[in-house]
Amino acid sequence: SLTGRDLHLSFGDNQVLRGVDIHVEAGTTTTVIGPSGSGKSTLLRVLNRLHEPQSGDILIDGRSVLRDNPDRLRRRIGMVFQQFNLFPHMSVLDNVALAPRKLRGLDSEQARALALRELGKVGLQAKAEVRPATLSGGQQQRVAIARALAMKPQIMFFDEATSALDPELVKGVLALMTELSQEGMTMVVVTHEMGYAREVSDSVLFMDHGRVIETGPPVQLFEAPATERLQNFLAEVL
Ligand code: ATP
Ligand code: MG
Repeated sequence: SLTGRDLHLSFGDNQVLRGVDIHVEAGTTTTVIGPSGSGKSTLLRVLNRLHEPQSGDILIDGRSVLRDNPDRLRRRIGMVFQQFNLFPHMSVLDNVALAPRKLRGLDSEQARALALRELGKVGLQAKAEVRPATLSGGQQQRVAIARALAMKPQIMFFDEATSALDPELVKGVLALMTELSQEGMTMVVVTHEMGYAREVSDSVLFMDHGRVIETGPPVQLFEAPATERLQNFLAEVL
């Protein structure tokens, strides 16, 4: 499990996280929703220690990780962003094989075999030898997901992974994220896709102004929002 406890972070006088609690059980999917600027991306960046929280704690399986080397935590968490950030000068296969070789110490044959397997899981084995630029946005995002999975993370973070995609490409990426969730991957998903949040997540967290306003199972938040803030947000996005 992954737990963030009373997390605070400010940038100057901008209090971006004002005491956020999050608990993600192993094998479950938590989606984070909320208006622009509410702190969703910052929460993910604090949870993998790209930003250090000014106070609060981060626990994996109940043990605080704040004293560990941050790289240890980052290697346990796979990240997928809106921008795929693939290396343009490398083949799709090399994009996926690079980190396992550099960081997990696989030799090039092992890394290649692993990359092909991961590309198979996202339906792109046939594209292994091409450059990313020759793929559609949806295919590039699936490569980015394969690249994250090749590190064998314990947890996957998605930050608006479908927001930059043309509408007709969103479905394929959401289907892959749904599959991962159903296979029991532990996931934290920041998304504007309310359909996904409602259908796939075990738990939803609604943030506004750096705080968690409501959290619970999707039926509760979507069918019976308790606060006016969530009611207004849903009225705008649904
Ligand atoms: P969106 O839905 O638009 O992606 P968000 O909920 O992900 O929004 P964040 O990106 O977490 O919001 O930003 C929350 C606040 O933190 C904003 O006011 C933003 O300007 C500020 N912020 C985020 N990152 C930094 C940074 N590196 N330095 C300074 N301020 C930052
Ligand atoms: Mg964001």
